[in-house]
Amino acid sequence: MAANKKLLMLPGDGIGPEVMGEVRRVIEWMDCRRHVSFDVIDDLVGGTAYDAHGTSLTDETLAKAMSVDAVLLGAVGGPKWDNVERQHRPEAGLLKLRKEMDLFANLRPATVIPALANASSLKEHIVSGLDMMFVRELTGGAYFSKPKLIEDLPGGGQRAVDTQVYSTAEIDRVCRVAFELAGKRVGKLHSVEKANVMETGVLWRAVATAVGEDYPEIELLHMYADNCAMQLVREPKQFDVIVTDNLFGDILSDCAAMLTGSLGMLPSASLGAADESGRRKALYEPVHGSAPDIAGEKKANPLAMLLSCAMMLRYSFDMAEDADLIEQAVANVLGQGLRTDDIMQDGMTAVSTDQMGEAVTDELDKLAA
Ligand code: NAD
Repeated sequence: MAANKKLLMLPGDGIGPEVMGEVRRVIEWMDCRRHVSFDVIDDLVGGTAYDAHGTSLTDETLAKAMSVDAVLLGAVGGPKWDNVERQHRPEAGLLKLRKEMDLFANLRPATVIPALANASSLKEHIVSGLDMMFVRELTGGAYFSKPKLIEDLPGGGQRAVDTQVYSTAEIDRVCRVAFELAGKRVGKLHSVEKANVMETGVLWRAVATAVGEDYPEIELLHMYADNCAMQLVREPKQFDVIVTDNLFGDILSDCAAMLTGSLGMLPSASLGAADESGRRKALYEPVHGSAPDIAGEKKANPLAMLLSCAMMLRYSFDMAEDADLIEQAVANVLGQGLRTDDIMQDGMTAVSTDQMGEAVTDELDKLAA
């Protein structure tokens, strides 16, 4: 089959190349066993790009990211680059990439895999079967709105200002992504804000309601962010898709993530606006960082990276069946008791990064047989 799916791989720093190696294994498996091939371009980002080019994201790499169908990124950063000028730091390259691609919708699933239900800090019956998705607005709100400053006060001391601004258009586009996603799942969407005390919350609720009129088949529920935090730890299974702003999304999605057990298991997708053909710019990456403490030791858990690849198949390439296969293979290897260090439990079998990746492709073989 012709390789018409253009993919840019940016392994990055620390454990990034190790976990990306396991994605390559799956991509090769798909080529051989599913006859699906990708045009894969490789490039540098983060500290490794800085070492090679003096900047953590070159214009050439950015141009490639803008031209492909999807970008897969490992992780960036590490102590080696702690003293590099701020604008060239590894993290600056990733922020620039997200900004230039205008990735305004961040999708973070919180799914409890049966074999790991007892690894959550909550009781097993509360999280068992949990399968929800956060859609966080990623480019506006309190992290970006101006003014944003710290200034000296005439009488001494200082004053710090962060500003929360949202326009109708910004809320509308992220809500549409969430409604569409809810339509592909169980048809239920919670819109979360603080309309009781924030003007942006009032507008958010009004726009979410208006967008909802275009999706009459979706049940839309409104919830205050503080109540949402409480409900997430009280009865998380009441949620399916949650859409919220940048600040609330940052906090609430981390909270939901921990319901599932481990950082090494969490994938994410960041999506931009759809063009005329419906294609969205998209970046897929694990939630975890570059884990410099274990880099090079083959201890990294590659499953968040592999699940990010599954998200890419689902959302950029409309390959839900292949995405399901990878997710099922991951669940099966965990069900067989294989564990990397970060998710190790009594009585389980310790495996390295590549052994885990190999086990996933072995499982894919069985599932696809
Ligand atoms: P981290 O996520 O890298 O690591 C936190 C802890 O989790 C560490 O003990 C690490 O060993 C462990 N861990 C993380 N991912 C793992 C995996 N896949 N398998 C097994 N264990 C895993 O966060 P940190 O230590 O705060 O940051 C380290 C570096 O990563 C910093 O330079 C930071 O800026 C960067 N960072 C990058 C991203 C990104 O690229 N998106 C995100 C967060 C942090």
